[in-house]
Amino acid sequence: MSSNVIKLVIAAVLFVVAGVLIVSFLGDEESARLPDDAKLKPVVFLCMECGHHFELSYEEAKSALAAAPERKAPVESGGARARSASRRGLPKLITCQKCGQAEAVRAKQCGEGDIYVPLYNPDGTKGECP
Ligand SMILES: [Zn+2]
Repeated sequence: MSSNVIKLVIAAVLFVVAGVLIVSFLGDEESARLPDDAKLKPVVFLCMECGHHFELSYEEAKSALAAAPERKAPVESGGARARSASRRGLPKLITCQKCGQAEAVRAKQCGEGDIYVPLYNPDGTKGECP
C-alpha cells in the first residue's frame, strides 16, 4: 500500500517537472529565434551621406529598423539585379548619428581595417569590399 503511495508521489512530481519544462520552453520561444551571440554583437551601420559608421546594440538596431519606413524598388528599372532587389525590398535607411540624415544602412567591416561597406546598397545591390 505504502509503495503505491510513493509511486503516486513520484509520478506526480515527474508530471509537475515535465509541465514546468514545457512551459519554460514555450515561454522562451520568442527569444530563441536568434542565437544569443547574434544579439550580443553590435550591428554596424554606414551613412551613405557622410561616410560615418556607427554601432548599435541588437535591440537598438531592431527598433531603429522597425521605425524606418519600408522602401520599394522602382518596378520599371530593368536588369536581373534590380529585379532581385525589388523582390527582396530595398534596405531600410536609419538616421545617421553624425549628420542626422536618414541615410544609414546596415554595413559590414572589411577585414580588420577601418573600411566599411553596406551589406546592401540603398539601390538594393550587394555591397562589396574593395
Ligand atoms: Zn551621416
